Amino acid sequence: MSKFIYAFEEGQQSMKDLLGGKGANLSEMMRLGLPVPNGFTITTEACIQYLENGGLSDQVKSELEEQLQSLFKKTEKSFSNDALLLVSVRSGAKISMPGMMDTILNLGLNDDNVVKLANNTNDERFAYDCYRRLLQMFGQVVYEIPMHAFESYFNDYKKKKGYTSDADIPAEDLKEICEHFKEVYMEEVYKPFPQEPLEQLNEAIEAVFKSWNNDRARIYRELNEIPHDIGTAVNVQEMVFGNSGDKSGTGVAFTRNPSTGENKLYGEYLLNAQGEDVVAGIRTPKEIETLNTQMPAVYQAFVDVTHKLEEHYHDMQDIEFTIEDEKLFILQTRNGKRTAKAAMKIAVDMVEEGVLTKEEAISKVETKSIDQLLHPAFEAQALEDAEVISQIGLPASPGAATGKVVFTAADAKKHAEAGEKVILVRPETSPEDIEGMIASEAIVTTHGGMTSHAAVVARGMGKCCVTGCSDLDIDTKNKTVKFPSGELAEGDIISVDGATGRIYHGEVKTTNAEHSTEFEQFMSWTDEVARLNVRMNAETEQDIAAGYEFGATGIGLVRTEHMFFGEERLIQMRRFIIASNHEERVAALDELKKYQAEDFEKIFRLSGERPTIVRLLDPPLHEFVPKEREEIEVVASQLGLTVEKLERRILELQEVNPMLGHRGCRLAITYPELYEMQVEAMMTSIQKLKDEGINCRPEIMIPLVSTIKEFTILKETIVNKINELNVTVEYKIGTMIETPRACLIAGELAEVCDFFSFGTNDLTQLTYGFSRDDAGKFINDYIDGDILAIDPFQTLDVEGIGRLIKMAVEQAKAVKSDIKIGVCGELGGDPKSINYFNTLAIDYVSCSPYRVPGARLAAAQSK
Ligand code: PEP
Ligand code: MG
Repeated sequence: MSKFIYAFEEGQQSMKDLLGGKGANLSEMMRLGLPVPNGFTITTEACIQYLENGGLSDQVKSELEEQLQSLFKKTEKSFSNDALLLVSVRSGAKISMPGMMDTILNLGLNDDNVVKLANNTNDERFAYDCYRRLLQMFGQVVYEIPMHAFESYFNDYKKKKGYTSDADIPAEDLKEICEHFKEVYMEEVYKPFPQEPLEQLNEAIEAVFKSWNNDRARIYRELNEIPHDIGTAVNVQEMVFGNSGDKSGTGVAFTRNPSTGENKLYGEYLLNAQGEDVVAGIRTPKEIETLNTQMPAVYQAFVDVTHKLEEHYHDMQDIEFTIEDEKLFILQTRNGKRTAKAAMKIAVDMVEEGVLTKEEAISKVETKSIDQLLHPAFEAQALEDAEVISQIGLPASPGAATGKVVFTAADAKKHAEAGEKVILVRPETSPEDIEGMIASEAIVTTHGGMTSHAAVVARGMGKCCVTGCSDLDIDTKNKTVKFPSGELAEGDIISVDGATGRIYHGEVKTTNAEHSTEFEQFMSWTDEVARLNVRMNAETEQDIAAGYEFGATGIGLVRTEHMFFGEERLIQMRRFIIASNHEERVAALDELKKYQAEDFEKIFRLSGERPTIVRLLDPPLHEFVPKEREEIEVVASQLGLTVEKLERRILELQEVNPMLGHRGCRLAITYPELYEMQVEAMMTSIQKLKDEGINCRPEIMIPLVSTIKEFTILKETIVNKINELNVTVEYKIGTMIETPRACLIAGELAEVCDFFSFGTNDLTQLTYGFSRDDAGKFINDYIDGDILAIDPFQTLDVEGIGRLIKMAVEQAKAVKSDIKIGVCGELGGDPKSINYFNTLAIDYVSCSPYRVPGARLAAAQSK
């Protein structure tokens, strides 16, 4: 029979699935001989069972009884003795979900025990402060009493009596507050606070289990792709008190700076406080180094622990600690969340320190976090000119964002849904604000430090965040915020600099991200390790330059349709479309050729000798004709036509299913002069570059092929045209594999093609029969209803489309072992899909420039 509860000394790091991350690490720390308070972990299996059955099983109850007895023995304390045991109850899933699940401290206190605690510690104030915290936390977590039911009374009480900090409130007043808090239970949930510690414990455990399915937790899991069925463990641990006087305290520290990656202990603590005080950000904590002057021995002991933990876990650690009467206790350790910049630096430093191999370092950086590095920053000059609103905030998460001020998570969501960019400005954030945080461009808080909820969550999301702007005074009721020299109302625009912690009035200009030397170093290792190359899909000069900066090895897709837009070009394209014979068409195309030649020269000049795939025109012609009556009139006069004639042609071009219609190679079967023009423009400009000494490597790609004849006819057209041109440029001609039929005949196609590139957008559309433009309307219903696990336009459907691609690759390679095969389309930039492509004989993936670094990392992480 399986076991549902493990004492810390019975577990270990490898039992994360069962004990959750926190529980497994507590066990591991105990094995390492670190000062961890005693306790036990109720497993994730017990949670899953609870959620299925709606109650704790008899076995869990009886194991709980046993573990409690044993905890009483180990601690020589109990819930009823004078030697009083109090416990904390915390959730801890396998994958850390900061701020998502709930914690209850001081459990075991009641009207009698609070007196015992006061006697034992000789500190009545401390005892009642603990009780008031329990009443508050238990009420919120277990009975879902809104936070403000307690907070507003507490804050008004302090104001009325003139107390500026919680520590100023004397015992007598805390007693009164506790009495009132008990009344809040009756008012809000019509039942008293349970006086019996065992009842408190059972209810707390159940509440943690239930909280696995609360909205915040579900949203967090969806955002972070954490499965919903793994459950959370619950850790029950002997309380140690950071709030038992000035020789006590509590804090959080990272073994390295989580923002920059600097190899220096980074953290903060508060004396005479409990853990939530630091994280909730209500009091502003002190820097960890100050502890060295306040309690040198404790500081040294802590530093030793941090070294031990980092060495043991081979990763930067995020450690929670408590000091009780100058004795250090470690309450938690986990791999610390970090910015991408820090992740990069830590990975590179740890390889250089000999702690990690390059492969290990690569496996530790999340592909998602690479995006953060590509975030823009503010322009230096624009910053100098901008009006500073606040400059004492902490740079909690990097980035540069501009948006309209909103004061609640609900407003953030509402305005973002209306398409506005918003900045959420709050005194502090709590897990309830999660959706508003997701919707915002940046988050600003007036309280809290680098480890506050806002900071931790924003860093995890890669979202710009500044915390602790105590020079801002928010009036959430009237939706205004005062800053030292003025006031802002909801909707006013501010700019937030996550790199410095400064807030500016109005919009500030941004520049693209700069690369650190660590980034370059790290990315060069990914290239050493990766088998797949990464090219880019790009056609503008700006994008091509960015893609090469991001390390693309070539261009996997130039979509030439972009070359037909622009006022003068569009007129010529329209002339081509309405032409009634070959001569008229060629005349219009001759004009277009000039523009195309200029564009190709720019593209190939930037690409140089790197392989560059140019896809010949793909979209249906109706995309180029005017739609509105007014526009039709203008175009008709430009082309010297009657409105009626133009309208008739537009009507002829209309298709019921344009994506299945006259597009791709089918266009060139009807109008071969179209591809001839494109090829001529391309090859002559490449010849020009060759004459300058630049040897380009064009790869000409024919789209949407589904029969061999389509390809061979057009290949012949292209080759004949090139032969006429008298150019000496070497080139390849290949096809895009984007119809299921092309996959089925891949062997035969390979015989006549120089290369393949899978167009996964159309291939997904045509294999599922899901319109890529309309699937968004129902795909979420499919995912919610478990009909699909993923959106196949975003992540490869391995079982279906994956099988088709695998088959096509195998057939093609069997016929022509050196045929180059790539993947363009969105899936070429998706890490999970890349992991699968890596298992096939595919040579490269291609994606938009900003996805290139993430794709390089994904390729290096692929197994
Ligand atoms: C594709 O279909 O995957 C592709 C890259 O082409 P487009 O998105 O231009 O249709
Ligand atoms: Mg396509």
